[in-house]
Amino acid sequence: MQINVLKFGGTSMNDHQTWKQVLNIIEQYEYPVVVVSATARTTRQLVKIAQLAAEGKSEQAEEISNGIRERHITLIEEFLKENDSSKNALILQSCIKKIDEKISKLNKLLHYIEKSGELLPQMKDAVASIGEQISSYLLAQCGLAVNQMTQHIEARRIIKTDKEYGRANPNLFQINQHCGSLETVLENGFTPIIGGFYGEAPDKTITTLGFEGSDYTASLLGGALNAASIEIWTDVSGIYTSDPRSIADAQPIPELSYFDATEMAYFGAKVLHPSTLKPAQERNIPVLVKNIFSPKEEGSRIVRESNHDREVLALSFKGDIATVTVSAYETVMGYSFLTKVFEVLENYRLAVDAVNTTEASVTIALDNSDMLDKLSKEFIEIGNVSIENKKGIITLIGCSVNSVQVLTDRIFKAVGNVDVDLLSFSKEKRILNLVLNEDQLVESTQKIHKSLFSK
Ligand code: ASP
Ligand code: MG
Repeated sequence: MQINVLKFGGTSMNDHQTWKQVLNIIEQYEYPVVVVSATARTTRQLVKIAQLAAEGKSEQAEEISNGIRERHITLIEEFLKENDSSKNALILQSCIKKIDEKISKLNKLLHYIEKSGELLPQMKDAVASIGEQISSYLLAQCGLAVNQMTQHIEARRIIKTDKEYGRANPNLFQINQHCGSLETVLENGFTPIIGGFYGEAPDKTITTLGFEGSDYTASLLGGALNAASIEIWTDVSGIYTSDPRSIADAQPIPELSYFDATEMAYFGAKVLHPSTLKPAQERNIPVLVKNIFSPKEEGSRIVRESNHDREVLALSFKGDIATVTVSAYETVMGYSFLTKVFEVLENYRLAVDAVNTTEASVTIALDNSDMLDKLSKEFIEIGNVSIENKKGIITLIGCSVNSVQVLTDRIFKAVGNVDVDLLSFSKEKRILNLVLNEDQLVESTQKIHKSLFSK
């Protein structure tokens, strides 16, 4: 049995039109296992209303919760309207029943949160997962409406995790065990449809796998089922050389390695959950990123080894960066200076975007936040501190080591006389970072992209 795991994200689950598209795609496969996100915006709204409830703003929370209910009912009604079938009435009834059941559970949770006056991670997960609980059931019903043999499978039966709410770790052993039931569903000719993003802890409470966790669900299932492919279906044609919304000539990357794709996920290409590739990589299962609006296009293919001959694979960028420079007082010894700097960062659990060091000074680029004041108070103990805000960072991903010289030449030619605050290269990660003023960020990225990718 050649299984393909197909994951459809929030934009694919947007409205009745995209649901049709999703069901059409599923139909092309012999043994598909389908993982779905919540409908677009739903998870964000759920997290928001959980917070509102904790702040005692229950009226506002209820309004949004009603909105979620209405939106899903409308979606089903619209879907069924275009489908002339005697089953419609029954299906609509069962969908509304399910939606009401989940919304009433949601309201109970909100009530509990409001009473306790705080939002515990466990409660947050219970609320946040409701979008996928609803969408997976409804899509399976819509499949039945158009005579596809779809079957809803509750994710909690399969995705077993530990109790780390908010970013739970999967229990691979148990997931493997429970995946057998999916094979039975497939053998019986049905297509299992499973909500992504959430699972269940040993004490039966709901956990989530982290932001964008549906990708991770898909790859966990792909790994456990030893699937022929794990396919991430989205609204763009693959992983791009840069964000196509700002960089007009960005193009899909036909093939890339697990290693580079993982780096890209970390460095801001929002197409994949960073942990997604691990289970695929372990079993050497190709991960495809494809576009529901143009399914014939190749998209991107992520495989173990990809021998691209480009000097660089992709370019990401982000703003709202600060740079902090600490120059050691003469009394602080060189070797202990760096240790102290990094100790402070560790204490504040701050992730650093890029670093440059000399013997007695260090410049750190990191996301701007209100931590910076505290940080500088600590640094002042070891050296002179200067902080600059309104910076941006450009990251070149998948740089071949041999071409760093060529790359830097071309970068500096492309950006002209832009001031670069920091430049760092990691041979191991194949990453080249460039920090510059935020107001020059997008334009510089466009120029660099042009000079590196235009033929
Ligand atoms: N709905 C969840 C989120 O927005 C999970 C996902 O879509 O991957 O993070
Ligand atoms: Mg996604």
